[in-house]
Amino acid sequence: MLIETFIRKQLRLKAHTVTKVEEAGECMRVHIDRLGQRLLRCGVCRRRCSQVHDIRKEREWRDLSMRKLPLKLRYRPRRVECPRCGVRVEDFPWAEPWARVTTALFNAVAMLARELSWQGTARQYGLNWKSVATIVKRAVEYGLRHRARPTVRVIGMDEVSRRKGQVYLTVVYDLERRVLLWVGGDRTEEAVKPFFTKEMGTRRCHTLRVVCMDMWAPYANLVREYATHAQILFDRFHIVKHLNEAVEEVRRSEMRRLSLKERVVFKRSRWLLLKNPWNLNPGQKERLSTLVRWNVPIVRAYYLKESFQLFWDYKQCKRAETHLQKWMTSAMRSRLDPFKRFVRMLRSHLDGVLPWTRIRLSNAAVEGMNNKIKSISHRSFGFRTATNFIAAIYHCCARLPLLVER
Ligand SMILES: [Zn+2]
Repeated sequence: MLIETFIRKQLRLKAHTVTKVEEAGECMRVHIDRLGQRLLRCGVCRRRCSQVHDIRKEREWRDLSMRKLPLKLRYRPRRVECPRCGVRVEDFPWAEPWARVTTALFNAVAMLARELSWQGTARQYGLNWKSVATIVKRAVEYGLRHRARPTVRVIGMDEVSRRKGQVYLTVVYDLERRVLLWVGGDRTEEAVKPFFTKEMGTRRCHTLRVVCMDMWAPYANLVREYATHAQILFDRFHIVKHLNEAVEEVRRSEMRRLSLKERVVFKRSRWLLLKNPWNLNPGQKERLSTLVRWNVPIVRAYYLKESFQLFWDYKQCKRAETHLQKWMTSAMRSRLDPFKRFVRMLRSHLDGVLPWTRIRLSNAAVEGMNNKIKSISHRSFGFRTATNFIAAIYHCCARLPLLVER
């Protein structure tokens, strides 16, 4: 088979043909021309047009490589007279109208950019970083326009930090399909509102049944305003995190009070207190019992933490509530300020904590996704702009469709 025929078939050309393939230093140049008087299509509506208006100057498209040589397609685009759109540049079967690379290369780059950093992807295909950035952003734009939008019933909202906690983004996931729905540039009410008003809209907001989140007022306010049918559920993972922070705070302030000799035993006791007791080895158990003998506040904190955790196992709402009320009363009497603060936070959010017994959902899936987002940021050594970071998150987590190769 002639190489010209091979490439023509690969590109699935019908109204065009390959006239010549030449080796040109670092690449293979593929010359394309119109095939006879075959009808060309309008670049806007893809309708067949009988009249060619004029011939433009030659353009070049990067294509995939053959062996080690990148293919470059060269063609002089025609402008057609479309009965509907007027004079327009023709439709290229090998590329999108705006693209400087073929759809095949576009999709190959986009797919690799889901696994590697943009820099790494660029190196692999001999492109520069900027071209990869453009391709990913275009792919995301296209994907968002063409993605399926099934009914959403259960969502998880969370924040991810950018630049070591100085800047936050909000991510929203569909917890049933385990897919990213939306990313917002901040975690304020103003920044997250478009998710409800634009992304979801009134009709789709009505189908929301459960919204899983941290105890963060802006998110809760928005849900109460826009998704009136939805039950807010404060996420188990976050509640435990706040509880552990209270334990840690008690431990640290006690450490400051202790003498140097005593401090040795307490060193690295953090995990001892946070771990589940049945996971401790004999040495650790011994150290824990020394702690118990020596230090009262830390031990009180430890037992409070342990008894709180029983809440998650109750099957009956009434019993779970009784347990929590009793626990809060004893925690308020513990004379441990971090725990009192925790109880106050819990009390003001009870309507979103108690439904756990009925719903038993958590943002565990969200945590997995958030770790993925962290690794995306990490492999690119952090993104300098929020726009690029957001594009990368959509690209890797939202399962967006790629361009259709014709
Ligand atoms: Zn048209």
